[in-house]
Amino acid sequence: MDQGGIPSVFNMVETLITWGLAALVLGSSMAFYLRGLKKRDVRAKAAAEKGQLYSEGPKAQHPRIDVTYCIGCQSCTMVCPEGDVLAMLGGKAVIVNGYKCIGHGLCTEACPVGAIKLVMATPSMGADMPYLSTEYETSVPGMFIIGELGGLALIKNAVNQGRDCMDTITARMKAAGVAPAGQDVFDVLIVGAGPAGISASLRAIQNKLSYLTIERDEVGGTVSKYPRQKLVMTSPVEFPMYGKFNKTELSKEDLLKLWSTILKRADFKVRSGESVDSISKGEDGVFTVTTSKGQHRSRHVVLALGRTGTPRKLGVKGEELGKVMYRLIEADHYINKQILVVGGGDSAIEAAMGLGHQRGNTVTLSYRKDAFSRIKERNVKRIDECIRNGKVQVIFNSQPVEIREQSVLLDVGGEVREIPNDYVWVFAGGIPPNDFLKKIGVSFGAQDITLEASKEARLEIAAKKQMNTA
Ligand SMILES: Cc1cc2nc3c(=O)[nH]c(=O)nc-3n(C[C@H](O)[C@H](O)[C@H](O)COP(=O)(O)OP(=O)(O)OC[C@H]3O[C@@H](n4cnc5c(N)ncnc54)[C@H](O)[C@@H]3O)c2cc1C
Repeated sequence: MDQGGIPSVFNMVETLITWGLAALVLGSSMAFYLRGLKKRDVRAKAAAEKGQLYSEGPKAQHPRIDVTYCIGCQSCTMVCPEGDVLAMLGGKAVIVNGYKCIGHGLCTEACPVGAIKLVMATPSMGADMPYLSTEYETSVPGMFIIGELGGLALIKNAVNQGRDCMDTITARMKAAGVAPAGQDVFDVLIVGAGPAGISASLRAIQNKLSYLTIERDEVGGTVSKYPRQKLVMTSPVEFPMYGKFNKTELSKEDLLKLWSTILKRADFKVRSGESVDSISKGEDGVFTVTTSKGQHRSRHVVLALGRTGTPRKLGVKGEELGKVMYRLIEADHYINKQILVVGGGDSAIEAAMGLGHQRGNTVTLSYRKDAFSRIKERNVKRIDECIRNGKVQVIFNSQPVEIREQSVLLDVGGEVREIPNDYVWVFAGGIPPNDFLKKIGVSFGAQDITLEASKEARLEIAAKKQMNTA
């Protein structure tokens, strides 16, 4: 009995130790996780106490939480790649830093009860945005807007909207029993070949629509203008004629190479170097699109123009000099130079840091306000480090008043300083093509501007809701 009993005592002790260790590991992971959640809760409470809640409110798209459905599970607060857009307060999700939302929409997908929607900001913001139906149709029937021009940033949103919009057009044509268009009229004309236009064009090919894509510059849109080797952050997305694209981080060059391979395989035809100047709709319901090179006719028009438009200028003397630029692609082409970067957003800060890391450069960043307020958390840390290491000098409360061949006059709090200078980069944002949209009859305003998650996300949410009520 004893002989049989000793090993079984050992076995029991061994099992107890194993379970004990497992419980310890599980317990500490749980404690770590809960500490993370608590930190966010504490931050939200602190913000609320200081009266800061909503003070940094949304400027564009942001989550809208239906508190009657929110179950306080915290899934939304944990998935946001931008950090603390949302936090928990009194057991419910609330917006703490709405301005940080750039439309990933992961909170909408993560919410198990479908309590979150992505919506546009205030009615005043809506007034500056084109009216769009939930199918991305403008106030002109048959004319659609997709991608960033509609107000929602990010590559994955552009891709989702391009694909969904083309499915809407195909379904409408099928339902109306419309025969395929003839030689002189296209089913759909797509303007712009950024991520939204590329996705729409590929879906048009897949759905066997006759299409024409017109791009005034180069295929890839804003992505092709990112700085060299920029790391592109994205989310898994269903890419037409490719399938599920699961990478979440890749270089700009790799992303453009991938698109180029897919487009070649799909025999994508684009008229690049052609700009659309005006669009009118005839009494027969067919659009006439006038470009820099001629006219085209189409039953539907999809505008995927982006919001970058034309860069906003400073309007100061000397801005016409060749050394003044509005976009930086190759930071390593500039060494041993005196450089001024103007602006206080992420693009300005990233450019200043990129240039500051090149050999022999002296980089000054001029910003008209007294602090950076709307930049990504990781850029806050990186720019602080660059300032500490002397890579970038930041002058707040300053703005250029004149640009000269070899210097710049900077107004610093009312006092004019002359600093030596070889190059100036201005990052003052872009002027979106609102005048063009108004000219072609698109209405603006906060009408039906609720932007929901992608079609798949909506289906998933609906399924989850059904499971919860079952
Ligand atoms: C510096 C920077 C970094 C970014 N990083 C990321 C990131 O890491 N991850 C992410 O998801 N998003 C990122 N974004 C946002 C992302 O690039 C945009 O949301 C996305 O490119 C929008 O796609 P789009 O197709 O709507 O517009 P765009 O990419 O802007 O493409 C619009 C196209 O339309 C063309 N066009 C405009 N007018 C006309 C006309 N009249 N006739 C013909 N063609 C015309 C333009 O030439 C352009 O090619 C970043 C943006 C910037 C500026």
